[in-house]
Amino acid sequence: MKATVHVSQLPDNPYILLTPGPLSTSKKVKAAMLRDWCTWDQDYNQLVQSIRSRLVHMASSDPEAYTTVLMQGSGTFCVEAVIGSVIPRNGKILIMTNGAYGKRIAQMAEVLGIYAIVLDAGETSPVSVKQLDEILKVDTSITHVAVVHVETTTGMINPVAEVAQVSKKYGKTVIVDAMSSFGGVPLDVAELGIDYLISSANKCIQGVPGFGFIIARREALHSCKGIARSLSLDLYDQWETMEQGNGKWRYTSPTHTVRAFDQALTELDDEGGVTQRFNRFTLNQRTLVEGMEKLGFKTLLSTDLQSPIITSFLYPDSPVFSFDEFYARIKQEGFVIYPGKITAAATFRIGNIGDVHLADIQRLLQGVEKQLFWKTTKNN
Ligand SMILES: *Cc1c(COP(=O)(O)O)cnc(C)c1O
Repeated sequence: MKATVHVSQLPDNPYILLTPGPLSTSKKVKAAMLRDWCTWDQDYNQLVQSIRSRLVHMASSDPEAYTTVLMQGSGTFCVEAVIGSVIPRNGKILIMTNGAYGKRIAQMAEVLGIYAIVLDAGETSPVSVKQLDEILKVDTSITHVAVVHVETTTGMINPVAEVAQVSKKYGKTVIVDAMSSFGGVPLDVAELGIDYLISSANKCIQGVPGFGFIIARREALHSCKGIARSLSLDLYDQWETMEQGNGKWRYTSPTHTVRAFDQALTELDDEGGVTQRFNRFTLNQRTLVEGMEKLGFKTLLSTDLQSPIITSFLYPDSPVFSFDEFYARIKQEGFVIYPGKITAAATFRIGNIGDVHLADIQRLLQGVEKQLFWKTTKNN
């Protein structure tokens, strides 16, 4: 059943979002929402089941060993559903952090009363696999290890493969927050031995906000019945209802968002899958950095630590530079950029995921070049 409004009738957005989500989506994704679905009707439940299956096949080279749980809310809700539902009362989690999203996991553990230790790497270094190995060697009471794949705070890509490998060597359960990378950076949960991977609808898959999803290793999830510290964020219960009800959600499901997500998955296939999308994002990001460097900007991270998702740029070294002014001017050029989020340096961020293409980045660079006001304003 197709949406009845033709996409060409939809208005253009006044600007492109160069943020890590919500991000710019295609008109077809938006048009897919122009229909009402009943949350327990068969048509809708079949759509949900097909989405779950597509996600598992995307995430895992061994799809039989994995399953998907869709969960209402933003990405944080899904991370909290995992943290609160998979660590038993006598468990202990090691959380590797190097930015706000890792710290948020630590905050969840604290709120939920889960025994946790935090291994922090600061804001501008990748998480330390060597330290992880040393800790796991001596502290045998640790049961789970959590890490963020792309720390969106800075744009840093963390060595998840190595983290998973070391954690598996010691028999630990591995939780990966791949919110801002899944669908945009190739990753195979089966190959890496990841037990729980979390992402959401409005990041690299280019859907709209409203729900997230957890790719779970079946065997791990099967042992989580009754562990949850929350009713609505009970991962096991949500999964069991979806399995037994053939795509049924507990409580109201974000039907419009789910339909848009299905269209977004089709567009990901049409683009050629995750590898092709990764190539587009990589080209966007490299073009962005090369162009910004030509205009005198410097990146916070060195190239080897940089993800193809979002880039942190240092404020230009000028007393006249103001981020608010820069932001407003760039918005007038048709682009919304993102403030920085770290304490180590004054930065702003530019994302390059979403329905964003090389020509958009080139237009952005032309727009930025017109707005280098601190270079032309007299400093008095
Ligand atoms: C976006 C994001 C989240 C979740 O953020 P929400 O605002 O709750 O959707 C979690 N982790 C990372 C790494 C993210 O980029």
